[in-house]
Amino acid sequence: MPLLWCSSVHHSGFSSRRPGFKSRQEHQNYQLRDVHYYTRLEILLPFGRASEDMPMDVESIRGDFPILARRLPNGKQLVYFDNAATSQKPQCVIDAMSEYYSEYNSNAHRANHTLADEATSALEGARDAISSYFGTSPDQLIYTSGATEAINLVSYAWARENLSEDDVIVLTEMEHHADIVPWQQLSKERGVEVRYVPIDTNSFTLDMDAFEIAVQGSSLVCVVHTSNVLGIRNPIEKIVKLAHLQGARVLIDFAQGAPHERIRFDDSEVDFVAISAHKMGGPTGIGCLLVKKDVMSQMGPFMTGGSMIKTVSTDGSTFREGHALFETGTPRIAEAIGWGAAVQWLEQFDMHEVHSHINNIASWTAEKISEIEGITVYGDPSRKDSSGAVSFLHDSIQSQDLALLLDEGGFAVRTGHHCAQPLMDALGVPSTNRASFWLYNTMDEAQAFVKHLNYVVDRFSDK
Ligand code: PLP
Repeated sequence: MPLLWCSSVHHSGFSSRRPGFKSRQEHQNYQLRDVHYYTRLEILLPFGRASEDMPMDVESIRGDFPILARRLPNGKQLVYFDNAATSQKPQCVIDAMSEYYSEYNSNAHRANHTLADEATSALEGARDAISSYFGTSPDQLIYTSGATEAINLVSYAWARENLSEDDVIVLTEMEHHADIVPWQQLSKERGVEVRYVPIDTNSFTLDMDAFEIAVQGSSLVCVVHTSNVLGIRNPIEKIVKLAHLQGARVLIDFAQGAPHERIRFDDSEVDFVAISAHKMGGPTGIGCLLVKKDVMSQMGPFMTGGSMIKTVSTDGSTFREGHALFETGTPRIAEAIGWGAAVQWLEQFDMHEVHSHINNIASWTAEKISEIEGITVYGDPSRKDSSGAVSFLHDSIQSQDLALLLDEGGFAVRTGHHCAQPLMDALGVPSTNRASFWLYNTMDEAQAFVKHLNYVVDRFSDK
C-alpha cells in the first residue's frame, strides 16, 4: 500500500458542535487514533485491488463495444474521445438490459409472481455486485440517478438535518457544478458558509496550503477525486485526514475516478462517495451514493412516497431504514441490472493497468498537441496519477469551430465549460476542447487525432 508522508499538521480542538461526529468523545478518539501515526499517513482510499486479472488486450476489448465500429455520415471511422462525458457500453450491458425488458420485465419488491421475483433478484443481485466492486456492503449503497443526485442526496438528507448557519462547507475551485450548486442553495437557505479552495494555475493542482486554512472549523468537505477538465487527481487521502481532524465529514465526487481506479470504501475513511454508472460502462440514469453506516443513521428522508415507507395511515407514516429510506418509488431496475453487468465486466481487469494505458495515451497526446503552434494544454497529463482528460485551446480557432473540424475527421471531443465555470474563471478561459480516453482507446487513434489536429490548425489558424 503506498504511503504519504506529512511533516506537520495543525488541528484545532473540538471547540464547537461537530455534526460529523456523534459526540465529543467520538471525535477525540478519532484524533487520538490519528495523532498516533501522524507523520506516516496511510493511503485511505486503497486502489487497484489485487485480483487474478487477465492482461489487457485492447483489440479484444474493442470487440465488446459494437459502437466503436461505427462510421459517421461522412464515411469517417468514429474515434470516440468524449469518455469523460459518458463512456460507451459493452455488449453484455446492452444484452442484460434488453433481456430484462424482453424476458422478465416487472416491478421489483412489489408482487408475488415469477417475473416480480426475478426482477427483484436481479435488482438486488446488481446491488451486491456493485457494492462488492466498490469494496462495501449492499446496505451502504443507495441507488441514485447519478453523481448529481447522490450529491443532492447528501445536501438534502444529511446536510439539512445536521448543518446550520454556524457551519462551514469547503469546496474547491475545480468542482463540477454538481458539487457546487447544491451547496450554494443550502447556503442561501440555511446561511451555511461555503469556502472555495483555489487551484495553482501553474501546476493545475489544488493549493493545499489554502486547503489547510479553509478546512479549519469546517463541518463538511466536498472534493472532486479527479477533475473532469484537468484530469488532475486530488490528494484525497491527505484531504480526508485534514478534514476529519476538524471533525468534518467528507464527500468525494468519484464520477471521474471510478472509470479507472478501484476504491475499497469500507477500508477508507471517506464518509460519502458519489458515483455515476454511465462513465464506467454502465447505462445512463443510475449511480449511487456510498455512505458509512454511522453517517447513514444521521440522515433523514429526502424524497417521500412509495417504497420508502413501513406504514401509512391518515394519521401519518413510518419509514423504512437503511438504503430503503432513500430509494423512493419504482426503482431503476433495468439500469441497475445494466450497471451490475458493467462492473462484472470490469472485474476482469487490473485497474492499475487500465489507468496506465489511459494515462499513456493522454500524456503522449498532451505532449504532441502542446507542440502545435497556438495550442495550450490545461492540466498535467504527464503526472502518473492524472486521468485521461486532455483539455486544450487554440489561440485563433474558436473551440466550437475546432470541435466541428475535429468531428469532420471522425473525432468526438467535448467542448464548452464542462460544467466547471469557476474553474474556467480561474484558468481565465470561457471554454476548452477536451479529448478524454478510456480503456478501449488506442495509440493509433491518438496518432490519427494529433495528425488531424495538425492539419486543421495548419489550414484554419490565423498565421
Ligand atoms: N462530477 C464530475 C466530476 C463529473 O464529471 C460529472 C459529469 O460529467 C458529474 C459530477 C455529474 O455526473 P452526472 O451528470 O452523471 O450526475
